[in-house]
Amino acid sequence: MLRRKLAIELAYRPGGLLATKIYLHHVSTATTEGYASRPGGAQAELLAEVNDHEQQRNLELVLAEFRNYQQGILPTGPGARSLTEFSASIDEKLDPEAAAPRIQRNDRDVLNLLTKRAKTLHLGPANYCWFTDPSRALCLRLVGTPAADRPLIGMCDSVRCPQATHHPCHRPLWAEHADKTKIFIGQLGTARKTERSWLQVDLDRARRVDDEIDAASTSMTEESA
Ligand code: SF4
Repeated sequence: MLRRKLAIELAYRPGGLLATKIYLHHVSTATTEGYASRPGGAQAELLAEVNDHEQQRNLELVLAEFRNYQQGILPTGPGARSLTEFSASIDEKLDPEAAAPRIQRNDRDVLNLLTKRAKTLHLGPANYCWFTDPSRALCLRLVGTPAADRPLIGMCDSVRCPQATHHPCHRPLWAEHADKTKIFIGQLGTARKTERSWLQVDLDRARRVDDEIDAASTSMTEESA
């Protein structure tokens, strides 16, 4: 039962299948794949449980993002506008009469409206991926499979994909990446100008993401102060 519980907890996370294989000491990946996704018997049951957990987690994340929106903490990244418009539309549905006093609906009402969107959510390495339209997925376009039904999270380039958003929970990851890149640049010899300029672009990008997250998180606080 412990191994089963661990498999459920691990397998739905990004890279979870490989983590499950390593942690459970499966000799071959096929065993883990069977554990998590092959139909039949306990495996199908496990997959159904994993999917249920994934959907529940997604709903909780989407609800948290919606509550963030209501508090003025906005997403950033190329998909931010779309997500903000979605949150605004839900907010309107909950409170159709703007002039009336704001009624705080309970989480169940809100969750009912967020369920469809939650099904499109995938967790990127340092971003959320809102996989609403495969033809707009940068990762799929890069590998030439624009009709696939799942994103290729391992190929994610969240700074350039129109379906990606960044949130305050991603800030530490980008900050850590920026710190490590800075150290790496400092260790490069002066002759390695090409690598240095590539890394500098990477560093600037990570800092820009962090700055954008900070700006989107603090604007409302400043306005209300
Ligand atoms: S590039 Fe990233 S955000 Fe865009 S669809 Fe692929 S995984 Fe999702």
